[in-house]
Amino acid sequence: MARYNGSVCRICRRENLKLFLKGDRCYSDKCAFDRRSYPPGQHGQRRRGKVSDYGIQLREKQKVKRMYGLGEKQFHLFFERADQQKGITGTNLLIALERRLDNVVYRLGLVNSRTQGRHFVRHNHFLVNGKKVNVPSFLVNVGDVIEVREKSRNIQAISDALDAVVRRGVPQWLELEKDNMKGTVKSFPEREDLTMPMQEQFIVELYSK
Ligand code: SF4
Repeated sequence: MARYNGSVCRICRRENLKLFLKGDRCYSDKCAFDRRSYPPGQHGQRRRGKVSDYGIQLREKQKVKRMYGLGEKQFHLFFERADQQKGITGTNLLIALERRLDNVVYRLGLVNSRTQGRHFVRHNHFLVNGKKVNVPSFLVNVGDVIEVREKSRNIQAISDALDAVVRRGVPQWLELEKDNMKGTVKSFPEREDLTMPMQEQFIVELYSK
């Protein structure tokens, strides 16, 4: 499936949840979800009817997939890998998604959204353990050091993101050295570290059919 290219605010409205896909705008009074928290489209304001089990599972998968900005094929690949690992598949899936480099630079506050993270990673603005990594799906490991490349340190969007990170905070599994524009992976995230409402068991049920 092709990547979604429409208005990302429609996604929040469709999933009935603020997914924080647009950086600063999400915290402002311009947030489309805060203004119109009903599904987009002509019939969006109709009462939501009874949703089937399949519908619930599908919406949950779509929500998580879009939150992390993945296409269907890539998301399914993450699921397959999670399913092959020991432990709880749904938890494995969420932890793997969190370990993606585009997510980690977002969580550290080096960018203000995962979309910007993906974009900046592709443009070589970050080093992992001193080496250029331009693959957004790169999975970080414990002890990895992620930093803004010397040449990219004067990018205004990165400074702005660092100034705004206080607002959402840095998760405990990461450590940010704001002045050095760098962060360290202290541990892998635990399920409890992921505070957005996600019911990953529905995704497992959907893909297990
Ligand atoms: Fe979602 Fe952010 Fe748009 Fe609000 S501004 S609807 S949180 S993407």
